[in-house]
Amino acid sequence: MQLELSPAEQAFREEVRSFLRKNLSPELQCGQRYTTGVYPEPEISGPWQQALQRAGWLVPMWPKEWGGTGWNAVERFIFESECALAGAPLVHPMGVRLVGPVILRFGTEEQKRHYLPRILNGQDYWCQGFSEPGAGSDLASLKMTAVPDGDDYVLNGSKIWTTHAHHANMMFALVRTSNAGKRQEGISFLLIDMKSPGIDVHRIDTIGGDYDVNQVFFTDVRVPKANRVGAENEGWNCAKYLLEFERGGGIFSGRLRSQLKRIGDAIEELKGRGIDIRKNGTLVARFGELCADLDCFEMLELRIMGSLQPGQNPGPISSILKLRASRMKQAIAEMGVEVLGPLASQWDDVEHKDGSLLPLLVPDYLNSRAFTIFGGAAEVQLSIIAKSVVGV
Ligand SMILES: Cc1cc2nc3c(=O)[nH]c(=O)nc-3n(C[C@H](O)[C@H](O)[C@H](O)COP(=O)(O)OP(=O)(O)OC[C@H]3O[C@@H](n4cnc5c(N)ncnc54)[C@H](O)[C@@H]3O)c2cc1C
Repeated sequence: MQLELSPAEQAFREEVRSFLRKNLSPELQCGQRYTTGVYPEPEISGPWQQALQRAGWLVPMWPKEWGGTGWNAVERFIFESECALAGAPLVHPMGVRLVGPVILRFGTEEQKRHYLPRILNGQDYWCQGFSEPGAGSDLASLKMTAVPDGDDYVLNGSKIWTTHAHHANMMFALVRTSNAGKRQEGISFLLIDMKSPGIDVHRIDTIGGDYDVNQVFFTDVRVPKANRVGAENEGWNCAKYLLEFERGGGIFSGRLRSQLKRIGDAIEELKGRGIDIRKNGTLVARFGELCADLDCFEMLELRIMGSLQPGQNPGPISSILKLRASRMKQAIAEMGVEVLGPLASQWDDVEHKDGSLLPLLVPDYLNSRAFTIFGGAAEVQLSIIAKSVVGV
């Protein structure tokens, strides 16, 4: 197996680095660095999305006629890793990585012409309305109803854990349009204007103190039938396609490396405060193990990505990447708390000097618990791996 970058790939990496040097401002780097929630706020991710769009680099995986770059998987890996290592903000994925590919695959020409340019220029900020109070891992049990009435559907019910619904002007959602037959066969995929009368967004605070998620209530909300993607009752196909992107369409190792580097920087900061973690052999060994685990994960990711054709998604193997990445994320965050030691118990009081990383470590740890829940819980990923990859 060839793990060295070819001269052409090295030149591409240099091009990406040069772009980052010119376009990534210290303010945006700082915004990403101090984000403990799942995604940075729109005022941080938005300007970065625009910079990428200006360069034609926002949606590498889309077809070229809609703005794709035609990069192969290794080039995508290099690009994502370099952005993460440089501390670039995470682009909000709901439009570019989730609903965009669904519209490209299942949308009408009119839907493509309307929505895709608005995703690219940031005019629409999307949220995902899949989960409900009684439907998470078992998504097919969702109950929110969409009853046909003339040219519209009338929606009643609620969605929960809806990330950034309070920022979004659009939601893509799964709704129940039939109770006949198999549960999966009565679901449709709708694009919903969040300003429609009858939508109420209720804040949910996370354990780490961030405001990321919401419960969204729908009371007699009218949505034009023209906003349905795919045929009525065939939304499950869109959902399955989208979940593949949600679970494995991303490249994780660069972000994990950048998170580990943040722990390294925190260790340095503590040293400046007279606490030298490097004298603690157990922690030093644990740090070394994490570095080795990350190297292995990076090789695994590169090997899987390297075997894909342009535009191809890893398929069920993405469950392995999602599971490993979320567990590594948690292990690194746990290390952050161990590094803080007794200070962790007073995390609200850790002195917040300008530029200090220490107050971030506990919220980061608390929020990292969610990584083995959203995008498909760890136990569910294990079942997929057992069935689809191992074949049991
Ligand atoms: C921070 C965060 C952000 C989120 N953002 C969004 C969003 O933007 N949009 C959205 O639609 N949803 C979102 N979600 C919801 C997320 O997708 C669900 O929480 C997830 O699918 C799990 O569903 P659940 O919470 O109902 O838990 P459950 O499905 O009830 O699971 C509870 C426990 O049972 C286990 N379990 C369930 N089924 C099985 C099984 N078959 N075999 C073995 N074990 C099983 C699970 O692994 C878990 O440990 C978010 C969640 C979080 C935490």
